[in-house]
Amino acid sequence: MTTTPDITIIGGGVIGMLTARAFNNAGVTVSIIDKSQLGQESSWAGGGILLPLYPWRQADAISYLAAHSLTLYPTLAEQLLSNTGIDPELTRSGMLITDNPDADKALAWCQQYNINHQAAALAQLKQLHRLCIQPLWLPEICHIRNPRLVKALRQDLCNRKIAIEEHTEVTGVRVADNRISAIKTNHGERTVGEVIIASGAWTGTLLQQLLHGLSINSLAIAPVRGQMLLYDTEPGLLTSMVLAGDSYLIPRRDGKILVGSTVEHVGFDKTTTEQAKTTLNEFALSVFPTLERYPLIKQWAGLRPGTQQGIPYITRHPELTNLSINAGHFRNGLILGPASAELMTDIVLANTPHINPEPYHITSPH
Ligand SMILES: Cc1cc2nc3c(=O)[nH]c(=O)nc-3n(C[C@H](O)[C@H](O)[C@H](O)COP(=O)(O)OP(=O)(O)OC[C@H]3O[C@@H](n4cnc5c(N)ncnc54)[C@H](O)[C@@H]3O)c2cc1C
Repeated sequence: MTTTPDITIIGGGVIGMLTARAFNNAGVTVSIIDKSQLGQESSWAGGGILLPLYPWRQADAISYLAAHSLTLYPTLAEQLLSNTGIDPELTRSGMLITDNPDADKALAWCQQYNINHQAAALAQLKQLHRLCIQPLWLPEICHIRNPRLVKALRQDLCNRKIAIEEHTEVTGVRVADNRISAIKTNHGERTVGEVIIASGAWTGTLLQQLLHGLSINSLAIAPVRGQMLLYDTEPGLLTSMVLAGDSYLIPRRDGKILVGSTVEHVGFDKTTTEQAKTTLNEFALSVFPTLERYPLIKQWAGLRPGTQQGIPYITRHPELTNLSINAGHFRNGLILGPASAELMTDIVLANTPHINPEPYHITSPH
């Protein structure tokens, strides 16, 4: 006889996996369902920068989650390594931001959130071929290696004996007495306790499909394609992340350098384009001409769960008493993930949250 898990999470990207882990830490039985393999969508494809880009230009609701996640990441990375043997490569490379016309706002933000900041040193700037405007050096900003993070998270869930169902697509729900009594999948139907939708870019369309009879049956979450390039260089060639305008370079420990990214509203289309390759390549070579000596080895695309302002939904559904949503992290799912998972857990378990949940409600602007 199978027992109904207390929590069923639909979607196993970084948000779903971190949420499953947080419930497991709280002693709650949890299962996770994904239509493909865990962690192979946006969460695999991203750059893993652990800072929203120019957070001082974004909504405060993003900074609250980011600042809290920053305190959680070192322990998370250590635990994943010791529990699984897979190193997610949390790397404190620092970030050089070349152009800061709004430097006053940037410095005020750093002070408010206790982020170490300095004027960029001349030696750092000499590496780059760019006329910088009030360059800013954030020495403690980290990146994490997405494919390794999701691999470690998946292994950690396995080690914790969390039920994982891959290649299982949720296609419908049964609703009775203002709650979801069962979910339908391509492998059949099962009863559920609490349901959490963490389906990334698919969350908006999935809700329409699942909740068509209800008044709140859609959320403004839409796919936003991002393309990236990967160069194969030597370790230490570039020592810090570089953010220049809307594009960036991220040096991994083994010398690979990522260049990203595009922001394209093209629906659920993950194909890569020659145009993006040219634009990103031109950007990379213009800022860091040394790259010309090294091969460009890979290009890929992922679908970010886009919302208007980039504020995620982390909330209970107002009509269905056992449905919650943790989705819509747009460009920041890696940095916002740990704090979002903790907030979701606190909401469902009725604990006092570390962060005011109000900005992440369905009715708040996103
Ligand atoms: C190019 C690029 C660069 C990025 N760079 C950064 C960065 O530097 N820093 C940062 O913080 N963020 C970055 N991001 C954003 C970040 O990757 C996303 O915000 C984050 O991965 C979203 O995680 P998620 O779990 O919500 O979505 P996903 O990882 O997409 O996971 C959603 C999961 O739901 C599953 N699913 C969907 N529908 C169903 C269904 N009906 N039934 C079952 N399962 C379903 C999917 O198969 C998928 O596995 C970047 C994204 C891209 C694309």
